[in-house]
Amino acid sequence: MTVHGIERAPEERVNWKTSAPFILVHFIPFLAFFTGITVKSVILFAVLFWGRMFFITGAYHRYFSHRTYKTSRAMQFVLAFGGGMAAQKGALWWASHHRNHHRYSDTDLDLHSPQKGFWWSHVGWILCDKNNEWNADDIRDFAKFPELRFLTKHDWIPPWTLGVASYFIAGWSGVVFSFFGSTILLWHSTFFVNSLAHVMGRRRYATTDTSRNSVFIALLTMGEGWHNNHHYYQASTRQGFYWWEIDVTYYILKAMSWVGLVRDLKEPPARVKTAARIRDGQFDQGMFRAHWAKAGAALANVRSHVRDSGDGATSPATAPLRASDVDPALLANDEELLTRREQLDELIAAQRAALHEHIENALAHAEELGRLTRRAEREVAVTD
Ligand SMILES: [Zn+2]
Ligand SMILES: [Zn+2]
Repeated sequence: MTVHGIERAPEERVNWKTSAPFILVHFIPFLAFFTGITVKSVILFAVLFWGRMFFITGAYHRYFSHRTYKTSRAMQFVLAFGGGMAAQKGALWWASHHRNHHRYSDTDLDLHSPQKGFWWSHVGWILCDKNNEWNADDIRDFAKFPELRFLTKHDWIPPWTLGVASYFIAGWSGVVFSFFGSTILLWHSTFFVNSLAHVMGRRRYATTDTSRNSVFIALLTMGEGWHNNHHYYQASTRQGFYWWEIDVTYYILKAMSWVGLVRDLKEPPARVKTAARIRDGQFDQGMFRAHWAKAGAALANVRSHVRDSGDGATSPATAPLRASDVDPALLANDEELLTRREQLDELIAAQRAALHEHIENALAHAEELGRLTRRAEREVAVTD
């Protein structure tokens, strides 16, 4: 199947049967027309949205996926349970998939590559069968804890606990409006980091992907909108690199570190913050690669259309010259013209293939160079 020129493997197609509950849940908040919305349920909505947002960004993302700080085993369990309440599966599932996104950002191996379209990176990737399982190899460091494996295997426990608690706090309005309503908003806000944060906003650092910094997404997701900063330097707990880059998750973690709940938070070293900036002339491999891939796909699309459209009589650009199109004086040479045209087409195709190979090689080299430079900078920063 092709969507907007993008090939989809069979296991990457939406499984409507298994996705039905996820889709139907989106209609539950409408039941608020029957339950009404109380002041209590509005407050609960806000608490559940921002509270769980913190667990997704501060726990699932900055702790389990990237290990940017340390904490006790008991607190680690609390973080896993809190993230679990957001109904985004277990910590091990979430973090192992997220590590894959960083390892293979924007390539074919990226589980939610933005290069496969907005819809795919937003939600398509979780509606197909391909990504149901989690890969233990990606998350050995946390998979060794039986309590985390338990919570990931029985990932329904935390959200159900919260759903029932919402009923006792604010009645049915608390369930349909506060719990389900905030869960849906939380889903799509989180998904925006995978989709929108790769298309909307500005790029400060030359990374090998298309990540961007966006204040809108940062406010909505408590600091995850500084996504280009994050792709560039994932080891940092802090994603807003400057004071004006609001990063509420970091402020909360910082406050937690003052009372000893978490420790060893990391900030980006000054040297790292000023390196690899696009405005300083660093070659933006990520965007170049994305544009190159898009141009290639568009070209392939046109080619396949021309091929599909039959005997070449439809497209003026590629149809062989016909006798009637040609000046009568040239008719005698018609055959010769055709042969020359074919030879030219072949030559252009060969040149294009060679150019493609050269650019791919250059990109691979640039990427390796960037990796080595960043590693060297990190080492220098550590010894500072
Ligand atoms: Zn990340
Ligand atoms: Zn990303």
